[in-house]
Amino acid sequence: MVLPQPLPNISSLPSYVPGARGSAAGPAPIKLSSNENPLPPLPSVSRAIAAAGESVHRYPDMFAADLVNALAQRQGLPAVDVIVGAGSVAVLAHLLQAYAGPGREVVYAWRSFEAYPILTALTGATPVTVPLAGGGRHDLDAMASAISDHTAAVMVCSPNNPTGPAVTADEFAAFVDRVPPHVLIVLDEAYVEFVSDPATVKGDDYIGADAWATHPNVVVLRTMSKAYGLAGLRVGFAFGLAEILAPARACVTPFSVSSVAQLAALASLTAEAELLERVEGIVAERGRVLASLTADGWSIPDPQGNFVWIEARDRTSELVAHLGSQSPAILARPFTDEGVRMTIGSREENDAALAALAGLSWRV
Ligand code: PMP
Repeated sequence: MVLPQPLPNISSLPSYVPGARGSAAGPAPIKLSSNENPLPPLPSVSRAIAAAGESVHRYPDMFAADLVNALAQRQGLPAVDVIVGAGSVAVLAHLLQAYAGPGREVVYAWRSFEAYPILTALTGATPVTVPLAGGGRHDLDAMASAISDHTAAVMVCSPNNPTGPAVTADEFAAFVDRVPPHVLIVLDEAYVEFVSDPATVKGDDYIGADAWATHPNVVVLRTMSKAYGLAGLRVGFAFGLAEILAPARACVTPFSVSSVAQLAALASLTAEAELLERVEGIVAERGRVLASLTADGWSIPDPQGNFVWIEARDRTSELVAHLGSQSPAILARPFTDEGVRMTIGSREENDAALAALAGLSWRV
């Protein structure tokens, strides 16, 4: 039987492996597998979500104007310098759709966010991966050297998912000076709110007319899924020069940011101070988890996001199985033969994870 044939780049796409979710049977697992915020929405955000539910028989504002304006205002930008999408992964997909494609290359570090190879392959562009340096850090020198006349875009993930370290301001400054102007630089700051190292690059320094006068090719990608706790609603955004964002905006699936998501995001911006206070609590927990693991003999790369990386190499499945065998099961995210990423949860959840790890007879 002859069937319509998909494009070869689609048939061979690597699959995105979501964090484990646990099953309906047995006690609810401790879910540390998806870098989610352990805290439920603030009451004010829940109320906005419930109220938005009253009008879901209407289409959302296709341009998410109120949200775009709020983000623009907060950043001191005109609205044309902001793009929103159904998660930052969608915004990145739109950017790559607009700029990458057959005959063009996309450079990114590896291991990094697992959507990068998928989104790159979707466009038909050629991925160019640059191994992480020691300690799970980006090797920005090597990444700059990997750029060619065919490079369309380069992704810099700071802090890096899944290893944790952030790129420093000095490293990024030297990097953007080396990257030729035809290359789009996407600074993926999905976890920026959790950063505590003051040496870290600040995307804010690369946003706005002054910054774009020197480096017009830098786009800063952010999300409401992590610090703002809206992973289930899908809102991401990016700041960039209007001329750069317009082609990406043309790729956005119409009405893909739901009205509920738009109103929840607006309510979250209103409650920002309260949400960022909660982030401080998660960062404090991260410090406690890191100190405890280190004291217990584990070697953990500098965690600047809401997760820690345990480089278990060939013992990765063993480690994840051990966590999963606890009661309740502890779900973490394995990367076969590389390591395990474990999200910072509530204090009780972290204590359970620390106790389980302490019970192992080996360390990495
Ligand atoms: N960038 C990085 C580095 C991430 O880890 C994630 C989520 N895992 C995203 C982007 C996408 O997040 P979202 O689509 O939920 O905004």
